[in-house]
Amino acid sequence: MAHTPPTILILGAGYGGLQAARSLDEAFRRRLQPPALVLVDQRPFHQLITQLHEVAAGTLEAGQAMVPLEGILEGRRIEFALGRVRRIDVQERQVVLDTRQVSYDYLVMALGSETELFGIPGLAEHAFRLRWLDEARHLRAHLARLVRQVSVERDPERRKVLPQVVVGGGGYTGVELIAELADSLRAAMGRLAQTQGAPQEPFSLTLVEAGPEIMAGFRRQLVEEARRQLERKGVAILTNTGIQSVAPEVAHLSTGASLQAGTIVWTGGIRGNPLIESCGLATGPRGRALVNAYLQSVSDPRVYVIGDSAFATDPATGVPLAPSAQLAMKQGQHVARNLHRLLLGLEPRPFVPGHLATIVSLGTDSAIADLERLVFYGRSARILKHLAVIRYLYGLGGVRLALRHAPEVLEAVPVIGSPPGRLAA
Ligand SMILES: Cc1cc2nc3c(=O)[nH]c(=O)nc-3n(C[C@H](O)[C@H](O)[C@H](O)COP(=O)(O)OP(=O)(O)OC[C@H]3O[C@@H](n4cnc5c(N)ncnc54)[C@H](O)[C@@H]3O)c2cc1C
Repeated sequence: MAHTPPTILILGAGYGGLQAARSLDEAFRRRLQPPALVLVDQRPFHQLITQLHEVAAGTLEAGQAMVPLEGILEGRRIEFALGRVRRIDVQERQVVLDTRQVSYDYLVMALGSETELFGIPGLAEHAFRLRWLDEARHLRAHLARLVRQVSVERDPERRKVLPQVVVGGGGYTGVELIAELADSLRAAMGRLAQTQGAPQEPFSLTLVEAGPEIMAGFRRQLVEEARRQLERKGVAILTNTGIQSVAPEVAHLSTGASLQAGTIVWTGGIRGNPLIESCGLATGPRGRALVNAYLQSVSDPRVYVIGDSAFATDPATGVPLAPSAQLAMKQGQHVARNLHRLLLGLEPRPFVPGHLATIVSLGTDSAIADLERLVFYGRSARILKHLAVIRYLYGLGGVRLALRHAPEVLEAVPVIGSPPGRLAA
């Protein structure tokens, strides 16, 4: 009787899922009876989430943060199923999409995360978020409107409130966003002043962080440099200060003070995709799946969970691993290798994260980079960040895709660079 190859179903074509699918395809390339690989996503494109702060600030076109999956998967033995996952039945090994139903032998869950609101009153209604491309576009459209409004507003009180921006959460996302906004809003107001001939009310930006320092978990030297760069751009930083509630155009703080602002953005944390909890897998803090050393759900060894949806710890230190695109990709690659080993009858290997290089952008002209033995900052780190995106795109879709980003890199080179900021004004 003919033996039916197993089906490996990968949910989510983000950083982790796409990497897992591509690595699985490569691992089984030369085998006569490879497993059936099915990749599911609700969108026909891969989102460059690491660039969303640029989309929101108007320094990157939204189209450049969308990579069509068709091109990436061309020539690969991966079936793409477009659809939104509605339900996952781990007992029956079935996933229900809004378009069809798919059965699996092994499941790789890479469904990312959502913004964690911590039950803070008013946050969901009155604050912007930055986790998906649509949210970045929404914020960008609001800011473009605001820039125009600020320039024509006659009421002196409104003229003070509208250009205030409050970002809650001083982690990776909050820091990258506020630095990018400082540059793009300054540039937009500068253009307005030129065209309208009158001085414009400058935007004023405040970063609010509940912990004792911004960028928790980063090296001291880099945190200090990030602070210096933000302050140089005019960003006020409030630490040991939580946002307690939000009402229209006002954030009430744990210190008893309130900040009135035309724009309030919340980037204070993430929680696992709600499908993780709803399908009954064991979860750790903030709805992220508990996984073992092989990245299998502790509830079901046929289910692997990677990326933001997984709560994984560093086996060397026991410390939870900070969610990042880098980590998601490494996990995707590792799970693919282990599934390959499993289907060959070999023992799986535990996941060892190793050092994860980090580059945090600080606006259009600066960044900080931690490459383990090498720590540096400034414009060279910013160029490195652009190059990292180009390298990623090259890996996904070759030269043609990588070239889509090349103009950005040229802009970042001092002699060629043009002033940043493309928010409509
Ligand atoms: C503004 C910003 C800047 C960042 N910068 C960096 C950086 O510079 N470096 C870095 O390493 N990390 C960065 N991060 C973090 C990084 O983007 C995430 O950690 C990473 O995207 C997680 O990858 P993932 O594969 O778990 O999920 P994602 O990349 O989010 O992918 C999840 C996928 O699942 C799909 N999906 C979700 N729900 C469903 C459903 N119900 N049905 C079908 N499909 C679904 C989504 O469409 C998506 O394609 C940044 C994050 C933000 C928000």
